[in-house]
Amino acid sequence: MSEFDLIRRHFTRPTPSAMLGVGDDAALFQVSDGNVLAVSSDMLVSGTHFFPDADPYWLGHKTLAVNLSDMAAMGAVPRWATLAIALPSVDEAWLSAFSAGFFALAQQHKVALIGGDTTRGALNLCVTIFGEVPQNKALRRAGAQVGDEIWVSGCLGDAALALAHLQQRIALTEAEFAAVASALHQPQPRVALGLALRGIAHSALDISDGLLGDLAHILEASQVGATVELASIPVSETLRSLTYNTLTPSPSPEGEGSDAGGRGALLQQCVLSGGDDYELCFTAPLYHHADVVHRARKVGVAVTRIGHIVAGQGCVVRDAAGKIITGGNNGYDHFK
Ligand code: ADP
Ligand code: MG
Repeated sequence: MSEFDLIRRHFTRPTPSAMLGVGDDAALFQVSDGNVLAVSSDMLVSGTHFFPDADPYWLGHKTLAVNLSDMAAMGAVPRWATLAIALPSVDEAWLSAFSAGFFALAQQHKVALIGGDTTRGALNLCVTIFGEVPQNKALRRAGAQVGDEIWVSGCLGDAALALAHLQQRIALTEAEFAAVASALHQPQPRVALGLALRGIAHSALDISDGLLGDLAHILEASQVGATVELASIPVSETLRSLTYNTLTPSPSPEGEGSDAGGRGALLQQCVLSGGDDYELCFTAPLYHHADVVHRARKVGVAVTRIGHIVAGQGCVVRDAAGKIITGGNNGYDHFK
């Protein structure tokens, strides 16, 4: 099969929202009046962002999902995308499943694939996404103010926990793994929440590299500090039950085994600095508290207040007893 047959078969669908889609030297589309373009690229590299044998359907989903998450974080409506893909070989079954997963999510969000590039090479997937946002309405990292509440959507840590299991850094039961694996393989971008937060959030981003590392970007851009309460960070039932089992001191005096302590530290690390959550972290003034809850409920997404913005710099995390937790407060950094 030729490169062009491959593109036609797997990556060409009707694109009514564009004047010109796949097939020419460039795509053409028109931005709606009063809007500006929000543009973002995210690359998934085999062996770095996913296992080479990852399920191709869900890989297609995730390739677009991580980009939609950036649109959500900006409060932008995702509209168009391009896909640059390097493939080691042409595997029809793999390509069919990959594009099915990609287009299923694209359709759900009314995003048109309008172009891209296809080449032979180590498996590598790069989407550039184009969204629209009314001028001056984008949610940015800069803008957090002292006194703002800090919020996150959904639950944190499940994706990192699933990865830790796959990397044999922790042993979950089959049921436990099944409960957290979807967070890793099937992230749900919070596009509707991002749109709902326009006009009330002072700052926002999506959590892709871990809560504390990403929150630090808001703090730096906004020139403020933060305090976060560990106990208020939302976690899944599964993660909570593991934390409970491993952090609750055993009744026997010599019972606090180092193994259980290590497990507790790993779980805490998943929540605070694990990656791949694709939830939104945002700040909003106290007087919008009820509105934040109301708007999030309207779009069917749970949001939780985890702390607040203070003067100064950096983030202090406290445990339930008020003790400051140190360490582990960096997100994932590819070059560290
Ligand atoms: P050119 O050589 O002019 O860059 P290409 O041969 O690379 O054009 O691509 C032909 C057409 O197919 C272009 O419209 C391009 O945007 C599109 N295309 C290539 N690869 C993909 C892909 N993986 N997904 C979607 N469109 C693609
Ligand atoms: Mg090309």
